[in-house]
Formats: sequence, C-alpha cells, structure tokens
Amino acid sequence: MLGCLLQGGCSPLVCLWALMLPLVSLHRLNQHGRRGHIVKDRPKLLLVSFDGFRWDYIDRVPTPNFNSIMDEGVMVKQVESAYITKTFPNHYSLVTGLYAETHGIVANEMYDPVLNQSFSMETDSIYESRWWEEAVPLWVTIQNAGGRSGAAMWPGSDVKIHGMFPNQYLPYNASVSFETRVERIIEWFSATKEEAVDFGVLYWEEPDESGHNLGPQSSLMDVVIAGIDEKLGFLMNELKKAGLYEKVNLIVTSDHGMAQLSTDKIIELDSYVSRDLYTWVDKSPVVGILPKEGKLDEVYGKLVDANPNMVVYKKEDIPEHFHYRHNVRIMPILIEAKEGWTIMQNRTGPFMLGNHGYDNTLRSMQPVFVARGPAFRQHYVKTSMSSVDLYPLMCHILSIHPLPNNGSLFNVKDLLSAEPTPPTASVPPKVEAYSYAPVMGSFIGVVMVLGFLVVYIRQVTLKQLPSIKHRSREMSQPLLQEDLHL
Ligand SMILES: [Zn+2]
Repeated sequence: MLGCLLQGGCSPLVCLWALMLPLVSLHRLNQHGRRGHIVKDRPKLLLVSFDGFRWDYIDRVPTPNFNSIMDEGVMVKQVESAYITKTFPNHYSLVTGLYAETHGIVANEMYDPVLNQSFSMETDSIYESRWWEEAVPLWVTIQNAGGRSGAAMWPGSDVKIHGMFPNQYLPYNASVSFETRVERIIEWFSATKEEAVDFGVLYWEEPDESGHNLGPQSSLMDVVIAGIDEKLGFLMNELKKAGLYEKVNLIVTSDHGMAQLSTDKIIELDSYVSRDLYTWVDKSPVVGILPKEGKLDEVYGKLVDANPNMVVYKKEDIPEHFHYRHNVRIMPILIEAKEGWTIMQNRTGPFMLGNHGYDNTLRSMQPVFVARGPAFRQHYVKTSMSSVDLYPLMCHILSIHPLPNNGSLFNVKDLLSAEPTPPTASVPPKVEAYSYAPVMGSFIGVVMVLGFLVVYIRQVTLKQLPSIKHRSREMSQPLLQEDLHL
C-alpha cells in the first residue's frame, strides 16, 4: 500500500480509505474476540525432547519404538541445531524458531553487561523472566490465541515469560521420573474439552547425562539408548490407552548430539593467558571470554594463534552462518574447540568423556528427528532441515500464526500429509496476541493518517521515488532482536 502511494498508483482518497481498512479490521476482530476462540477442535501436538539423543543412536541398537514412528510417520536424517549446540539455547530455539542471538538464551552460562547480571544453570537466575523475554515461546503464543498448553520440565517452561506460565506445568525437578512426567502429560491432553491442552512439551535428561559421563562411543551407551526407546514405547502405549495416539501429533527430537572426548585432547588456557586478564563466562567447548577492561586486544593477541585445535574469534568476526553475533550476552571473545577437544584453564577439575556445543554443522552435533500423527505423511524420509524450521511447522499444525522467526514452513512442508494453505485470517500475530488491540488500532490509525499526509506531500513535491522492497513473510535472513518489537 505504501508502495502504491509512493509510486502514485492510486488517488489520495482511495489510498486514505485503504489506509483506514486495518482500523476497521482491528475493531471487527475485537468484537469477535481473539482468532483462537473461533478455532474449533484445534489439532493436538506433543513435542518430546530426549536431551542429547544423537541422530545415529537409533542405528546402534534395536529401537523398535523409534522405528514404529518412522514407519507410521516421518524421519529427518540431518537436523542442524542452532549454534551453540548447548541445551538451553537449543530448547528455546525449538519453541521460538529463533537463533540464540535473537531469543537471548545464548548459552547455558551467560553474563549480561546491560543488566550486570549472570545466568547460570547452577543458580535460581534461570527463573528470572528478563533472561527469557527477548522472545515468546510457543506455549505463550498458543495461549494468547485461545489455546491451552502443558509442559513437563521443558527448559524455561516453569519461568513466567511475558506474564504467563503454561496452563499446566511441572516445576523442574530432575528426580521426577519419565513415567510420572508422561502421566501428567496424558492427564492434560485427556481433560475435558475446555480444559484439555492443545500443545504439550515433554523433556527428559537422558541420554545426555550418560553421554557426558560415558562418552558416545562407549558400548555402555547401547543400554542407555535401548532404555530411551523403551521410554518412548511407554509414552506411545499411554497415548494409545488414553485414546490419544491417533489424535495427537507426536514429534520426538533432541537439542543436540554428542561428541567423544579424550584426555589426550585438552587445551589449557593457563598456558597462554593469565586468568587475571579475563573472566571465563561459558564453558567448553565454546568458551565465552570477557576480557578485563582495556584488555581485549591483549587477551585476543595471546589466544588467537596459541593452539591449532581451537579457533578464536572476536565477536564481530564470528562467521555469519552461525547467526551468533548480535546480542550483548555474547562475549567479546569466543573460543571454539575443534571436534573432540576440551578447553580448560588447567587439567584440574572434572573431565567429561562426551560433550556438545561444537560447530552446529558437525554431524556429531545433530539430533534425532521422527514424527507421526494426522498432520504427517507416512513412511517418509527427508534428507535435511534446520531445527528453527520446526517452529513454523508446529504453528501450522496447531493452526496459529507464527511470530517472526528464523525458520521456514516452506523448507519442511513436505513432511505434512496435506499441502499447507494460507492462514484464513490476515491479522498480524502481535495484535491477536494481546488485548490492547483497540488502543493499538487507534494509535496505528493516527500514525497511518499522519503517514498518509507526509507521503501525499512527498508525492506532490517529488516526481519519482525508488520502489520499496518489502520483507517477505518468511524470514530467510538472520532476524535480529530489534526486528521482533517485543
Ligand atoms: Zn542438552
């Protein structure tokens, strides 16, 4: 429309009417309530993450339950997780469709120089809303659209985000068994029509914990993997017993893979730079370094060519394809170990035999992905996808508008049993998400009228202006935090 005005393609009166149309639509939306209230029998979706379940674990031992889902549904061979391939960043990417630089959970351990606060999995800081509110997770969006959600231990799901918890959730407690988590999920999906959740998320700590302790190459991991398959079988059986198996779309994936480490592959930072010159923020294998004031170049100079088994970046030089640069919580220096290498300050302290966090293009960092249910094709194998594509896919299945995100439904639409159709409502998601639509509508109207006058004057005074390129609806380029207008 603005392009139409700029190019002189319509009369001023027609354009003014066109500018007022969104106002009319907004008030009409308000009279009828949020779009979510008119969605009947919203499809159901359960997203399950087995932490650290590498893509090829299903090839090591018989996994009849994973195989069953593949036969009845879809599997994706190569899923590229978000960088860095750690637990908190990737679980938040799965439910926001955003890279870590945009959703703000850039690491498991963070320092925010603006807040002058630290975030650590070891402290209650993870329950502070401000860390999470650079993005909106799917459970908040679906609730704003009139749906209901339930969360069993998913990272961030027991934090109040934008004033909201999931309708049903379990406060994080690692001692709660997988079976208990499943029982709660089944209860939530089985409730009365008014109370039943539409979207569920379920998290389990294994096989990540064993992968760290044993190393992924250990034969002892075979038992662990078989045990996860049994747990998946338990979930499938409980869904069947509750009459949910054919109704609920089930997605089983993970946040990252796991690489084998070795005590022969240790990089000791103390050999290269004094601890007095920096603060160590996030841990191996991708280490966030905060140099002391005025020491950036000195620390960088000491590290950059220190060891061939690590790559040292100044923040501004982090490769674009990582989408890991544009956030104050990303430290001024980032050290990335090469696959299988461990960065320590010295050899004292605990050592793990498996780890993740490395370059997200490494095969060892990629997670499993299988899915089944009424929305999915059957017996279909897809070559590759990005984990941020899962968010627009889930929004499509749940019939809600996705918020701006880094993923693409187009990239993954072949997983679906039916070709996606354009959303029926053309209302922007932020408007339906909150109840201040009339106020916003009036504000937008005033801005539009003023904008019209400015543009009209420019149209009269200028002979020709270059056309404006509009951003496509699907974001294929890095989406920065400031694009979200949260
Ligand atoms: Zn993890």
